Amino acid sequence: MDLNADLHVHSPYSLATSPEMVPSVTAPFAKLKGIDLLGSGDILHPLWRERLRRELVQVEEGLFAPPGRECLFLLTGEVSLIFGPIGKKRKVHLLLLSPSFQEAEELARALAPFGKLESNGRPIFKISLRAFLEILQAVTDRTLFIPAHIWTPHYSLLGALSGFDSLETAFEGDPGPRLLGFETGLSADPTMCVGPLFLREHPLFSSSDAHSPWSLGRETTLLSPRTLSFGGIVEALSRGTGIKETRELPPGLGKYYLQGHRACSVSSPPSPRGTLCPRCGRPFTPGVLARTVELSPPPPWPAPPPFRYCVPLPEILALSQGRPTSSTRVRREWHQRVSSLGSESRILFDLSPEELLKGGLDRVSVSLISSLRRSRFRVEEGYDGRYGRLLALEQPGEEE
Ligand SMILES: [Zn+2]
Ligand SMILES: [Zn+2]
Repeated sequence: MDLNADLHVHSPYSLATSPEMVPSVTAPFAKLKGIDLLGSGDILHPLWRERLRRELVQVEEGLFAPPGRECLFLLTGEVSLIFGPIGKKRKVHLLLLSPSFQEAEELARALAPFGKLESNGRPIFKISLRAFLEILQAVTDRTLFIPAHIWTPHYSLLGALSGFDSLETAFEGDPGPRLLGFETGLSADPTMCVGPLFLREHPLFSSSDAHSPWSLGRETTLLSPRTLSFGGIVEALSRGTGIKETRELPPGLGKYYLQGHRACSVSSPPSPRGTLCPRCGRPFTPGVLARTVELSPPPPWPAPPPFRYCVPLPEILALSQGRPTSSTRVRREWHQRVSSLGSESRILFDLSPEELLKGGLDRVSVSLISSLRRSRFRVEEGYDGRYGRLLALEQPGEEE
């Protein structure tokens, strides 16, 4: 049994998140996207937890579903830890996987003295990674964690601006068995994560970090659990062999792939000429590409775990039609295609070009999908908080 999982998402209680991020909207949407298992998001927030308790029923050990059973939910949440001396503040985001509402509630109670649980679905706690780990181990039996988007310059374990250079320094010792793996983040793919020696023995994992339904599934992890349960999912994630593949946005489409200055409209690949902006003279916001190289010994690096590139279908349709991704025409077309062809995941990964054309998908979109399947694409790379952009093929039709 294969499960396409997107475990890192947010609820309306997180900042800048759509009010539509509720199971009655996300579950049917996940089904159209081809997502089988969705994170609940924000499980430490008391009101969100109460709402989920009312709206979801447990269908397997540690797995929940809404009345329509469109997809399964696993209880997840993200925390932001901010700690360290002034001038050297560390800011790290962790994704939590909880086996039960009860355990999530106990963890929330233990963390309450260190932050405001009600003010944000992704609460901030002013404690170190070590202190967090000790609380986690003391109050919960089976809650696990995954450092989120590990390369993002701000708010991540290895980020250039507020992270660490090794696990040993980050966790003040061994992170222990509650560490399940690492989330690559949108601006990195597995080829960029096998450089650092300390990452090589841990599983890599991908998810969307969606703040709105349309972002769901922009990255996912395809799992093959031996049993359908929280324990089965965790086992699949922790044995590298239970992860069939991750589905990755081309890293250049992420917001921090290159170094640059958004205000100055300047970006640059890692360069011996340095990290200062030629326009304003201030340091660039660091890029993920350079950071992965900085923490790695010189190549050769080992082969990455299996992964495939994907770009959300609305972006492919938008490029083909020459309209914005959020336009009504693009969204209408998306609904028609996923309804006639099964799901977005089937369109992007499973159906042949002939089947896609027969199902009414236009030739340019089919060409783009075929090239992405061969890891061939052109992008304008993202930097300093600006998303990258998928570009048209140089010779449309060449890939058919
Ligand atoms: Zn997040
Ligand atoms: Zn500048």
